[in-house]
Amino acid sequence: MKYKSIKIGVIGVGHLGQHHVKHFKNLQHANLVGIFDTNRERAEEISKKYNIKNFENINLLLNRVEAVSIVTTTQHHGEIAEVCIKNKIHIFIEKPITATLKEADKILKMADENKIIVQVGHIERLNPALIALEPYIIEPKFIEIQRLAPYTSRGTDVPVVLDKMIHDIDIILSLVKSKLKSIQATGMSILTDSIDIAHARLRFNNGAVASIMSSRIAKNEVRKLKIFQKDFYSTIDLLLGMTEVYRISKNKNKTEKSIVKIPFDYKDKTKYIVYEKLKLIKKDPLKMELKNFLKSIQGLQKPIVTGKQGRDALEIALEIQKMIIKDIY
Ligand code: NAD
Repeated sequence: MKYKSIKIGVIGVGHLGQHHVKHFKNLQHANLVGIFDTNRERAEEISKKYNIKNFENINLLLNRVEAVSIVTTTQHHGEIAEVCIKNKIHIFIEKPITATLKEADKILKMADENKIIVQVGHIERLNPALIALEPYIIEPKFIEIQRLAPYTSRGTDVPVVLDKMIHDIDIILSLVKSKLKSIQATGMSILTDSIDIAHARLRFNNGAVASIMSSRIAKNEVRKLKIFQKDFYSTIDLLLGMTEVYRISKNKNKTEKSIVKIPFDYKDKTKYIVYEKLKLIKKDPLKMELKNFLKSIQGLQKPIVTGKQGRDALEIALEIQKMIIKDIY
């Protein structure tokens, strides 16, 4: 099938929305028709900066497009998605898909009935440091993730679980091929009146366990992931872009592109720890996501993160949130 140009709009052009505008403006198969933001000053600023039409209301924009990116504050994702689907417009929604599960289920049902693509912006899936692991068979037994960030007022319309931890819930669900069995969670509010730090432990039916720590009041930013499984350990720095793999090898001389082989003796046998620092292919994850969205609309690719996957991550995040709130209030 020929890859055509999609008429597209961006709704919400704040901190992240401006980057959607920038990419759609430059992507070969996007015809960026215009933007809409309830903050008229901001809309005007972005309209001038990118020389793109600033629509006065959402309906005027929706009348002219086939697809949109929804990059508003999370509380508005659901209502905007609904209007778009009613107008048969494909949607890319920034994470989290919606603020409530009820809204997510409603839009997914509507999208299904209207044959509309719903893609969710869980951008970490396209982080080159994570993609580097693709050649390996990943069957984690234990995962540890830390996502810490200094405080900014952006994102505080929702607790840290929906703002930050949901990225890691989505990563874990993409790595562990098993059903969730149980959740333990703890957290507290420190600077805002909602949860600012949270810790969760997810246990899966296949025995895998994931431990996630998220904070929006840290001194420095950290985004680290560790994966442990039989004969394999990996540390991934999602922020700095570094992926290290440690594997157990029985063979000393096998030609592998390893950097270091460390011998160790166990039960009268010598084995080797093979250490590799993986070569990352640096690509802009947002650009890749949006390209994938344009192709998904035309049936040329599948969405990297589907609406259903966004909904499943939301369900767990809300459950974690509920447990913490019950515990501390
Ligand atoms: P922001 O506050 O900087 O921007 C939000 C914009 O939406 C504002 O300009 C606001 O005026 C506009 N807006 C609010 N309600 C609207 C409505 N009903 N109609 C039209 N415009 C409306 O926030 P942000 O940091 O850009 O975050 C936006 C979304 O992106 C959030 O859902 C957030 O969770 C998500 N986000 C995702 C990532 C990621 O890594 N994928 C990173 C940052 C933010």
